[in-house]
Amino acid sequence: MSDFAKLSTVLAGRLIEPDDSAYDQARRVWNGMIDRRPAAIAQCASASDVVSCLEFARAGRLSVAIRGGGHNIAGNAVCDGGLVLDLSPMKEVVVDAVHHRVRAGGGVLWGELDAATQGHGLATTGGLMSTTGVAGFTLGGGLGHLMRSCGLACDNLLAARLVTADGRDLTVSDAENSDLFWALRGGGGNFGVVTTLEFQLHPVGPILLGGGISQPLSAARQTLRFYREFTGGAPDALIVYANLGTGPDGTPRLGMRAVFNGSIEAGKEALRELRAFGSPIADDIRPRSYLEIQRLVDPNFPPGRLNYWKAHFLDDLSDELVDLTIEALKRAPSRLSAIALEPMGGSVARVGANATAFSHRSAAYSFLILAGWEDAHQTEANVAWARDLWERVRPLAAPGVYVNYLGGEGEQRVREAYGPNLDRLVEIKRRYDPENFFRMNQNIRPA
Ligand SMILES: Cc1cc2nc3c(=O)[nH]c(=O)nc-3n(C[C@H](O)[C@H](O)[C@H](O)COP(=O)(O)OP(=O)(O)OC[C@H]3O[C@@H](n4cnc5c(N)ncnc54)[C@H](O)[C@@H]3O)c2cc1C
Repeated sequence: MSDFAKLSTVLAGRLIEPDDSAYDQARRVWNGMIDRRPAAIAQCASASDVVSCLEFARAGRLSVAIRGGGHNIAGNAVCDGGLVLDLSPMKEVVVDAVHHRVRAGGGVLWGELDAATQGHGLATTGGLMSTTGVAGFTLGGGLGHLMRSCGLACDNLLAARLVTADGRDLTVSDAENSDLFWALRGGGGNFGVVTTLEFQLHPVGPILLGGGISQPLSAARQTLRFYREFTGGAPDALIVYANLGTGPDGTPRLGMRAVFNGSIEAGKEALRELRAFGSPIADDIRPRSYLEIQRLVDPNFPPGRLNYWKAHFLDDLSDELVDLTIEALKRAPSRLSAIALEPMGGSVARVGANATAFSHRSAAYSFLILAGWEDAHQTEANVAWARDLWERVRPLAAPGVYVNYLGGEGEQRVREAYGPNLDRLVEIKRRYDPENFFRMNQNIRPA
């Protein structure tokens, strides 16, 4: 019996090896640029499966990758030649509607969590797409429609269960292993395998005012200048994402997606000026269920497409930046590419830069270049386009980058992602993972 066959006998979940017909599907992640071939994929069904896999990998000196929802742009959920711990079978979601809490397994996706919590009129800050993993998203910070009113996903994390490199199954919270709890909230998957996450919930919806409003590209300059003032003065309940890209009719345009976490009437008032500005070519902002809002973006980002992302944080949206971004869209080699602005502030900024491992509290916007294309022959042109725009924006950007938007961009950029919290993260990494067993991530080196 092979070593892997022995491992499979102790797992409640399935072990998939390269000769298994499920292998190609199981090794696939959201970004079609990633094509890695692990020695095996363990679909862990429980924390005890995770412990067995880590023990097996340690004994065999195998590298490991951890897969939550498989959405990571860098493809860190899958490795070449090692063991993937795929948590997708760990789908348990338990809502405590009385105390406004939810406990979710390490393989739960945002659409699944939202569906369970909205059954009670509750929610916590989740991703823009329903198919993003709760675990990887939260461990990096977690930016979403509710962040200005409810904080980042990591700000709502109350506790987690984590299996460490040496196989300990720990509870982490403010009361227990509080150093690890601090590190998990922005330090990514560096410290162990998170098998459950417990969140604070808030009354949300179930019906909110939300949807998109678009302006022609010719009006993007004036609109983005207005948008800067508008978002700067917006109440915490309101978030308006902006997106320069190509509309469904094939025409480049400026899209804005608004969500108001409050009453419909208050939302209409808060959005009045934005909707009245200029001559929008489309406006489908209307009362919708929060669950519908959380799926609005899904069709734009199908799995398997080729993607390359580059990101910055911005302290402000200068005229110069507005202009060069609009010009860049005109040069984009693919109509599937876009440039997004995610306004932060509100509750995000009221947490101290050292209170959690996620430090970028004062950024006004997250700026994201999303190159997407389908023809592999176009890869070089699309990557070059994204890099060129990123370089042009660099002198106008704030220091740092959101760890969850990083590709494989080298050690210096990783340092910038952890920013002023890096030294403390290194110290905690040294205590819990001194041999850097968990390194298939935006890596914090213990030395
Ligand atoms: C289309 C798209 C939309 C997105 N939208 C948003 C958004 O709105 N807001 C936002 O903030 N981010 C967004 N992201 C980025 C997203 O937060 C990251 O890609 C995140 O890593 C996804 O989590 P995952 O569990 O799906 O990732 P995976 O690819 O499964 O994992 C990524 C990494 O996270 C770590 N990890 C995952 N699960 C665990 C676990 N259980 N225990 C320990 N470590 C773990 C591992 O290091 C792993 O390598 C988006 C990404 C995509 C592709």
